[in-house]
Amino acid sequence: MDPSGLQDCPAPCFSTTVFGTGIGGAAGGGDGRGTGGDIPEVPDGFDTPSGGGYSATGGYGSNEYVAAGIINAGLAALKLAQANLDNCKDLLAQVSSASTTHFTIADINRRASALSFFDGASSPTISDGSNFGAQIPVNQTVGQFFISTPGVIALSQANGNAVFVRSSVWASFTPITGALGLGIVSPPFQSASGPTTFAMATLLHEVLHKYGLEDIPLASVLGISEKDFASNSSQSITMKLLDKCW
Ligand SMILES: [Zn+2]
Repeated sequence: MDPSGLQDCPAPCFSTTVFGTGIGGAAGGGDGRGTGGDIPEVPDGFDTPSGGGYSATGGYGSNEYVAAGIINAGLAALKLAQANLDNCKDLLAQVSSASTTHFTIADINRRASALSFFDGASSPTISDGSNFGAQIPVNQTVGQFFISTPGVIALSQANGNAVFVRSSVWASFTPITGALGLGIVSPPFQSASGPTTFAMATLLHEVLHKYGLEDIPLASVLGISEKDFASNSSQSITMKLLDKCW
């Protein structure tokens, strides 16, 4: 178990470090499953979401820990691991050229299969100045960052395989208003047939951060205009990847 989320673990690796850790705020989880690398069973209530939009008091889009959101992120990663990204290979090659570490599409697929997922708002992981770049002030926890920044839906560890997600949003079957705190409407992360392409595009966005580019240089390489970035913040990156790769 690695509640801090900063160790690599064998693929497929998700949810095992969230289920049963009993970390603060993980209400609704902690059922003790997930001692191996298997995909956990879908919990009861999985297909009965309600509401939408950000709520400080719980539910979809809140700080609440929703196990189904972690499961959905893991399933999206497995799909990204198998995704054929040839449609956007030229675009990804440009990102690779601009990144500190170069990569191929096969690297992206492999990296996706190695991701491990953690609930952001309940995470005790501390920023040490290198694990999250400039995103989180040194000594602040990931949980504090998610709670003080209600629109954040995912955060990528810069120097490892962890991705922290707002699990309540990742469990949503409906659009979430307020993504990134700007009134942006985020498409649903799951559908009756599983994770949406938007969920996969969001993970592709997070995986790209692992090769060295933060949002603004990444947006620039992807050809996103300053106006689009100003209006849609980092979701503009995800939407561009969704448009070009799927
Ligand atoms: Zn980003």
